Amino acid sequence: MKVAVFSAKKYDRELLDAANERFDHDLVYFDSRLEPDTAKLAAGFPAVCVFVNDDAGPMVLETLAKTGTKLVATRSTGFNHIDLKAAAALGIKAVRVVDYSPHSVAEFAVGLLLALNRKIHRAYNRTRDGNFELDGLLGFDLHGKCVAVLGTGKIGRVFAKIMVGFGCHVLGYDKYRSEEFEKIGGRYVEPEEIGERADVLSLHLPLTPETHHIIDADRLSYFKRGALLVNTSRGGLIDTEAAIEALKRGQLGGLAIDVYEQEEELFFEDHSSDIIPDDVIQRLVSFPNVILTGHQAFFTREAVGTISATTLASISDFEHGRPLGNEVR
Ligand code: NAD
Repeated sequence: MKVAVFSAKKYDRELLDAANERFDHDLVYFDSRLEPDTAKLAAGFPAVCVFVNDDAGPMVLETLAKTGTKLVATRSTGFNHIDLKAAAALGIKAVRVVDYSPHSVAEFAVGLLLALNRKIHRAYNRTRDGNFELDGLLGFDLHGKCVAVLGTGKIGRVFAKIMVGFGCHVLGYDKYRSEEFEKIGGRYVEPEEIGERADVLSLHLPLTPETHHIIDADRLSYFKRGALLVNTSRGGLIDTEAAIEALKRGQLGGLAIDVYEQEEELFFEDHSSDIIPDDVIQRLVSFPNVILTGHQAFFTREAVGTISATTLASISDFEHGRPLGNEVR
């Protein structure tokens, strides 16, 4: 099938080409993001393949539908960038990669937490400059602390299991309780108890209208003073300006994020020679107790290999009229 692949980086092309030996789709790569101005590039392509910062909103989908696109396949688990209602109304189906490697993201969240708590990012910079001072690098033992996992789905449960291994008390928050989470040793509690007890909070919720800014000024004011917040899910879960205020007051002891609400304009590109016009992100990176990475939690060999193969398999299923196991509605 002819597939227009948007936001195609070098690694996407290599991995998709390797996986495509089994499928033989006609993959055409575009460097650009899918957005209203670039949607016309997909004219005549029955399938369009996108990534997390592509825009598959109503306007783009309308253009795609007019020019013959019937399937949007996202190379991600999250699908908040696809307007499912508009897609359904236009007769466009959407598929995602339900399950690739929850370990990739959960392990990265643990990495962020360790770096943030033990100030590894600061130590790295100091020792490169010949500064071996320990002042300012004091952390705390994770052993015995309360770690809240918001969203106890696939990634949240792997994260919880690792935290149990560290000797933490793991508290859970989810709309739907998972027996597996409880078997791991997690305990579901009300949001108030998380606020009172959690030394660390890690977000593993999808971004939906219900979860948008789930961490806002009000919620932050109930956090235990000095709590650490880790977000590897979606930037929109946190009201960033409220988090900045909480960091300034010391209410939030540290913030480690792999995702950022306005990341579309910045992430996955080299802006090192540009003046970055986003004052919020500039303020964030000025804090010593903030770590920001550019949406790389999924980026392991295992995960991206599975993402490529699963995406192409879904496109084949669509092409041959087979049931779509990874369809999102
Ligand atoms: P999942 O669907 O297995 O788990 C999500 C959990 O959130 C579910 O248990 C669900 O019941 C719960 N949930 C949904 N809405 C809720 C609400 N309103 N209140 C409480 N709980 C709610 O998903 P997953 O595979 O664990 O992925 C979690 C998120 O991680 C994805 O949605 C995606 O945004 C993000 N992600 C990020 C990266 C990255 O590279 N940074 C990579 C993959 C996924």
